[in-house]
Amino acid sequence: MAELSPQDRQRLHAAIVATVRQIIASGGRNDEQDLYGNPGGYTRLMDSKSAGQPCPTCGAIVEKMQYLGGACYFCPTCQV
Ligand SMILES: [Zn+2]
Repeated sequence: MAELSPQDRQRLHAAIVATVRQIIASGGRNDEQDLYGNPGGYTRLMDSKSAGQPCPTCGAIVEKMQYLGGACYFCPTCQV
């Protein structure tokens, strides 16, 4: 993950935009609520329960990484 090619940057940007649009279209994350108390309909692919579990794509063990005061969960095989 040290360097991204221009093509990788474009793919990453497109994936971020598509994911955010999907989250908005489904009313936000399912672990959050709107102003009326209704939960959103978007389920994250990886969250705190994913760490130590197999990746849904390749089966490698999902890892947790601290980042900017929060936590990230990623597959060391698919996402590096
Ligand atoms: Zn994977």
